[in-house]
Amino acid sequence: MKLTQIYNNKDFIISFEVFPPKGDDVNQKIDLLIDELSVLSKFNPAFISVTYGAGGNTHERSFNISLKIKNELKINVVSHFTCVGAVKEDILTQIKYLENNGIRNILALRGDPPKGETKFIKPSGGFGYANELVEFIKKNTDLSIAVAGYPECHPECENLEKDIMNLKRKIDLGGDVVITQVFYNNDVFFNFIEKTQKTGVNIPIIPGILPITSYAQIERMIELSGTKVPDKFKNKLEKYKDDKTATQEIGINYAIEQCEELINNQVKGIHFYTLNKAFATEKVLDNLSIPQLLI
Ligand code: FAD
Repeated sequence: MKLTQIYNNKDFIISFEVFPPKGDDVNQKIDLLIDELSVLSKFNPAFISVTYGAGGNTHERSFNISLKIKNELKINVVSHFTCVGAVKEDILTQIKYLENNGIRNILALRGDPPKGETKFIKPSGGFGYANELVEFIKKNTDLSIAVAGYPECHPECENLEKDIMNLKRKIDLGGDVVITQVFYNNDVFFNFIEKTQKTGVNIPIIPGILPITSYAQIERMIELSGTKVPDKFKNKLEKYKDDKTATQEIGINYAIEQCEELINNQVKGIHFYTLNKAFATEKVLDNLSIPQLLI
């Protein structure tokens, strides 16, 4: 089912994100991933999204997992796709492959600069920004398109207002839904929604939530993406950083509170970054009362 229908059909949508496993024993890891997703399927996710490896070198694995989820778990899929190192002809071949195999949705991304590079260089014969990919997919396929949004502003952009205008361009060219980067302060998200809607955008803007399960994880997020974490939450995690059970409980309880506030503010859905483990997301969802989930 297409994203447009998914968000029209129900009042509240749960979705999950996974990434293709790396390293040795990939097939075994994929089987484990499917097992984890089977656990989460009790929450009736409307779709599962599958990330696309930087540089596209894991794209086959991403596509295989997308098809496995669609065919074995019978759950709708959103396949991520980036412009990194790709020329238009190859992009078309890959996207058509997904469409011909029954995938109905793409999360259209520019991608990050390749490792060791600080600036994204437009590949010759390819695309420099996600809006060009959105336009290309819209013109050449019948797929529904999700785009990425950044409540705290994309790190390369000067300010949130400009970043929102760049987001609006992706939407005007064919984006059907926005899925956001992780954030830990709901006020940042509410401000983002308000500013984006003021530009005339009226498609669903779905918050991305990642339940924290260790202090190291939050330190990494701050370092990599500059995510702002409320001091109270960070200090609590730091205090118990050597106690695995306590940090998990603190992180999961924080995510529950975050989700409850988002739901009370009528978000159209929540997208969980599962990190390929059911445990934390399951705990959060077990503790949320969302009657619509059971419909
Ligand atoms: P764009 O929308 O192109 O924006 C990139 C930057 O350029 C922004 O600063 C924007 O303000 C600016 N900009 C945009 N358009 C223009 C324009 N026309 N002119 C001038 N400036 C412009 N990465 C992966 O490698 N694989 C994944 O699977 C993946 N999944 C993701 C899922 C989500 C929900 C999110 C939020 C991010 C994901 N990413 C993934 C990370 C993403 O690839 C990076 O954040 C990347 O740096 C930006 O991608 P984008 O599609 O948002 O780019």
